[in-house]
Amino acid sequence: MKKRVITALTPSSDQLHIGNYFGAIKQMIDLQNNEDYEVLMFISSLHAFTKVQDAAQLRHNISMFVKIYLACGVDPERIFMFDQAPIAWHTQLTWILSCMTHMWFMQRMHVYKDAAAKWTADALNVWMFCYPILMAADILLYDIDLVPVGQDQKQHVEYARDIAEKFNRQFGDVFVLPDALIQSEVAVVPGIDGRKMSKSYDNFLWLLDTPEVLKKKVKLIVTDALPIEAVKNPDTCNVYNILKLFLSPEEDIIVRKRYTDWGLGYGVIKEELYQKVVEFVAPIQHRFSQLDDTMIEQMLLANGQKANDIASKKIEQVYKAVGLL
Ligand code: AMP
Repeated sequence: MKKRVITALTPSSDQLHIGNYFGAIKQMIDLQNNEDYEVLMFISSLHAFTKVQDAAQLRHNISMFVKIYLACGVDPERIFMFDQAPIAWHTQLTWILSCMTHMWFMQRMHVYKDAAAKWTADALNVWMFCYPILMAADILLYDIDLVPVGQDQKQHVEYARDIAEKFNRQFGDVFVLPDALIQSEVAVVPGIDGRKMSKSYDNFLWLLDTPEVLKKKVKLIVTDALPIEAVKNPDTCNVYNILKLFLSPEEDIIVRKRYTDWGLGYGVIKEELYQKVVEFVAPIQHRFSQLDDTMIEQMLLANGQKANDIASKKIEQVYKAVGLL
């Protein structure tokens, strides 16, 4: 039987970049091509609201994210995509689970502890403490077997499993116990200044940048000042560390050799990177231009109804089990 997998996309901005593609979107596409899995993908708009508290911006981000994911190759025929926010059961179940969760359990979450160490209490918001409970509800409502996450979110999936076990012990078998599917660490894609490619550093190659903008950005990629005739180390070169994402293993061997032989100029290799990036984003941008907001809204509405049916049945089981119905 297929394992049911859930994955979230959080529309916390309206711009997805090359780093997001290779660090997140590509993994989703790999999942949809895995015959062992039935994949649900929800737009975690309630989680996005923790950061984006501007109505027009939030709507815009949601639409942009869905369109870019689809344009990148996420196939709605293979992945069931829905928006979390209209399904009230996510927050209903969050309450039930909150009532069964000790403070100390949340206090030991690494993400919370890191935030609490960094910020004073008056700068910390309650969501930072509680969001793993919403995350558990997102998972448990849909009888999920596996949750693909990075190492940093593993503890939250373990909490979802623990609280589901506790509930089942106390009230009878209602929840499927989920496991984390730890995704192999994806190498951090550098931005044009050499730091992690990120919207907050304004150092990113946007998937929707025009060729002209890409050309300018690629030219700005920081390199060392070694002359053409010097032997160079590809692994410490920002241009190579972006370029390699687009290379076949055979092409990679050749490019690496050009670095370690003499005669490689950064201008030439930047031009090659530019060509690769333009070739890569062109079909994405073409598909993006063919998607409109109405299509996205219709898809989310239809899928929202189906997701709501599944989630409401689970809540009915929960309410009956605990005596609320
Ligand atoms: P963020 O844009 O930081 O919210 O990240 C969204 C997803 O993209 C996460 O799965 C990140 O790990 C991934 N991601 C973001 N930036 C990079 C990057 N520079 N290199 C690799 N993955 C990234």
